[in-house]
Amino acid sequence: MQRLALALALIAASGAVAWAEPLRSSPHPSRRPVAGAPVAVRAASLLPFAALAAPVPRPTGLTLAPAPAPAATAFALASAAPDRAPRPNPRPPQPAAAVPPAASTSTSALAPAVAAPAPRGGLAALFAPRTPRAVAGSVCGDSAITGSEIVAIPAAANGCGLSDGVRVTAVAGITLSEPATIDCNTAKALKTWVEEGVIPAIGRRGGGLAALTVVASYTCRPRNNVPGAKVSEHGAGHAVDVAAFVLADGSTLAVARDWRRESKIMRAIHASACGPFGTVLGPKADSNHRDHFHVDTASYRSGPYCK
Ligand SMILES: [Zn+2]
Repeated sequence: MQRLALALALIAASGAVAWAEPLRSSPHPSRRPVAGAPVAVRAASLLPFAALAAPVPRPTGLTLAPAPAPAATAFALASAAPDRAPRPNPRPPQPAAAVPPAASTSTSALAPAVAAPAPRGGLAALFAPRTPRAVAGSVCGDSAITGSEIVAIPAAANGCGLSDGVRVTAVAGITLSEPATIDCNTAKALKTWVEEGVIPAIGRRGGGLAALTVVASYTCRPRNNVPGAKVSEHGAGHAVDVAAFVLADGSTLAVARDWRRESKIMRAIHASACGPFGTVLGPKADSNHRDHFHVDTASYRSGPYCK
């Protein structure tokens, strides 16, 4: 705010000098408003000062006409300035919602969530040193789930939407190749699966599990991308697709390549998801899942569905 005031004062001072020049060189003050473009631009740059500090009657609309853009910008700046000051606690930036994994889909459901946080992030960036919550930490009340909370993804057609979502970057110390946008129930299931299923199944192989290759989480789409089908659990933030398991030595166990080749270990990983998750689908389920494990927290009266 002080910087802005200083800048405005400088602009006003230089503008005032420029303003005075035509007066000295011309005996006809009334001709000033039709002076060349540079003067008009300077006049426009005076706007914030006028708007903030004093009832300066000039410049007139005619003078501003040649330079509408600077005037609009200047006015926006002037009106934004007082708005900024009285907010002591801007919300922390919400990077998650700005780039949800499903951003590439063409659903209208996502559009508002993507667009909304942009100005907020920009504002919060100004206050970054004062907002410790901006640092990613644990979420869902579980220190073994790393990530950040996200703004609600509005409910849209067909039951999509995620009101209490998180952007998970790691579970049980295992990094996700891309953040998973899911709800906390699903985040906890993912942690349990990794901690109690995947890590033990891989053991010391390749130095142990280092990361999960996540290929999908929240996305508003029908099941198996079939038009007209029921909305996928992905559309509620209940599902994660994992295509591979990255080991500490850089090698991977990929579902597509290793389902048969590393049958024992891959089936153990698959089986261990059944329980923490209500649905587990792999290559045996159908051809849509030949290259990844789909896990979601849908619950069925008949118990988990795992194939
Ligand atoms: Zn899936």
